Amino acid sequence: MSTQKFSTQALHTGHDVNSNGGTRAVPIYQSTSYVFKDSDHAANLFSLAEPGYIYTRINNPTNDVLEQRLAALEGGIAAVVTASGTAATSTTLLTLLKAGDHIVSSNSLYGGTYNLFKNTLPRLGITTTFVDPSDPANFSKAAKENTRVFFAESVGNPKLDVLDLKGISKEAKAFKVPFIVDNTVATPYLLKPIEHGADIVIHSLTKYISGNGSSLGGVIIDAGKFDWANGKFPEFTEPSPGYHGLVYHDVLKEAAFIAKVRIEGLRDHGAALSPYNAFQIIQGLETLKVRIKEHSSNALKLAKWLEGQEEVAWVNYPGLESSKYKALADKYLPEGQSGVVTFGLKGGYLSAKTVVDETQIFSLLANIGDTKSLIIHPASTTHQQLNEKEQADTGVTPDLIRLSVGLEDIEDLQNDLKEAFSKIRNTVLV
Ligand SMILES: *Cc1c(COP(=O)(O)O)cnc(C)c1O
Repeated sequence: MSTQKFSTQALHTGHDVNSNGGTRAVPIYQSTSYVFKDSDHAANLFSLAEPGYIYTRINNPTNDVLEQRLAALEGGIAAVVTASGTAATSTTLLTLLKAGDHIVSSNSLYGGTYNLFKNTLPRLGITTTFVDPSDPANFSKAAKENTRVFFAESVGNPKLDVLDLKGISKEAKAFKVPFIVDNTVATPYLLKPIEHGADIVIHSLTKYISGNGSSLGGVIIDAGKFDWANGKFPEFTEPSPGYHGLVYHDVLKEAAFIAKVRIEGLRDHGAALSPYNAFQIIQGLETLKVRIKEHSSNALKLAKWLEGQEEVAWVNYPGLESSKYKALADKYLPEGQSGVVTFGLKGGYLSAKTVVDETQIFSLLANIGDTKSLIIHPASTTHQQLNEKEQADTGVTPDLIRLSVGLEDIEDLQNDLKEAFSKIRNTVLV
């Protein structure tokens, strides 16, 4: 494993300038396919006897650089990039699970993931029990004989609960199932779940890692530590009919999972990342450290300021002294807690809708992690499809506003919110 530090790896890993014509920037290899030297070469590539590029749905040199960088930054052995964060989640689960299998998941989830687990996977015979993740023992309590994965977000979006990853990973180990962690909100600069026992890390690259709001992407990173031969995953130890009898565990050893993601998951489900988007995401990744530090310090300042505003009923940010996650944030996110802040208004649902309509610098849209500041009212948008109990479980209350604090000057962000609050002052005083 390289001894280079975070930003050096973010800027250099995976790109050999000498083999790429001296290009300082990573080139965009915008090609669907690759010319084989001859029919033997082609046959060897298809039988995995020789490594190489076959077709961009499966691998691509630009995507390859991004994969190597993200694997290095998270401390994994290898990675596969996907068309979106959602594709990273679905490709991971469809690679590992089959009809009859069961997931135990944290209930504090991104709305899209919650819907996938709650409504779509059951149509394929894969069911989920959602648990309160604040007590790691809840995962084991909900586990059944057919449970095959534990799933959680290291920092829940939008609840911003910081999980005891070490505690949950111990439960997963005892139950002999992989612990999958969505690390989108934290980013590998603030938190590396593999250091705390995660087996598989996924990200939406659409958010902080890209950072500029231009491109969707996702990644699956394999820690390379899970024992797929423990009896619960026969598809890794028995000949694969989808790959001419290949026994993943025997041939690919610790890379069995990530190889299966690429040569079966990408091949069969097709959620490949465009090389152009990989290029855009690489530009973002190169400056991740400086950006996420500034996002975090701007967010903490704004959260403290919000606590002093009379229209505000409560503020939730893991770095605040008042947060019930402060102790876990000190342990798991000592360098900062990202740019996502949530708060509630004394005026409730209607005031929240008014404020998101009135801000000028904060853009009303469904995203986080952009360099520009963003605002949304989840109860009427991203979490609209969930019933009240499900909204409460995922941390969404009717009065909640989610901010993704960008890199603008903090005084301008405060003035923007102050101006918007002035429009609800009458409601508060009633
Ligand atoms: C946005 C997001 C996703 C989904 O990613 P897309 O790139 O939008 O598909 C998954 N998990 C979390 C925590 C997210 O914030």
